[in-house]
Amino acid sequence: MEKKHLIIPIFVPHLGCPNNCIFCNQKSISGQTKEVTKEDVKQIVDEHLKMFGDQKAYKEIAFFGGSFTGIDVDKQIELLEAAYEYIKAKKINSIRISTRPDYIDKEILKRLKKYKVKTIELGVQSSNDFILEKAKRGHTFEDVKRASKLIRRHGFILGHQMMIGLPESGLPDDMKTAEDLAKLKPKIMRIYPVLVIKGTELEKEYNEGRYRPLNVPQAVEMCKDVYYYLNKKKIKVIRIGLQTTDLICNPKTEGSTVVAGPYHEAFRQLVEDRNVV
Ligand code: SF4
Repeated sequence: MEKKHLIIPIFVPHLGCPNNCIFCNQKSISGQTKEVTKEDVKQIVDEHLKMFGDQKAYKEIAFFGGSFTGIDVDKQIELLEAAYEYIKAKKINSIRISTRPDYIDKEILKRLKKYKVKTIELGVQSSNDFILEKAKRGHTFEDVKRASKLIRRHGFILGHQMMIGLPESGLPDDMKTAEDLAKLKPKIMRIYPVLVIKGTELEKEYNEGRYRPLNVPQAVEMCKDVYYYLNKKKIKVIRIGLQTTDLICNPKTEGSTVVAGPYHEAFRQLVEDRNVV
């Protein structure tokens, strides 16, 4: 039986991110505007370890957020050192980070290796350069290929994150992204149907009628095809859709950051239920 995997999520908002992806408002998604410190890491990890008790499980610290390797190098080291203390003390098994494909090079990977980072997830979103440009991602699919190869060659576990329903993207484009990514041999994948988040450029496009988000049934249908394909390719889909813990959140509740789009509390369940063949 596979050992239980417990994640300790630490959200590192990329407050100084020079990019301007149309769907992103890091602060809005996390509800967090303050910079994370080593004290925060310690506090979050200690709280989780206390909560986990003496469960026998694989425990991992996960630095989520926009682009871990794009933040100030001193800050990266501060956070990695704080996490690494728990690895040395054998309280934690590994560390994972998420970042952009154009923020990966040999020097960065060397640093991550030093602190025993095991998994690197790349925000890919699409393999179509036109769609990436429309989303103002600021990188191309060539960057994704290069970074993915480097990550695997340096012995890390590779993860990819892709989006469903970006502007100008339809099911054939999203399927093509899944196929292109499968060729790069990620071990894990996250699938995010696009939500319109408050304070983003996409919200403006939506308000002006230039972007029409998917509804829940459409998004479920599209994610189902991608999910089923990835299953066949033996790529583990570890997440489908944002969760309430990712957002402040449910569009039906007050203070929600979701303006529109296919948000559903049990989105993954809906996709899996549609996945009967
Ligand atoms: S998605 Fe990542 S790269 Fe794009 S604006 Fe947000 S933090 Fe920056």
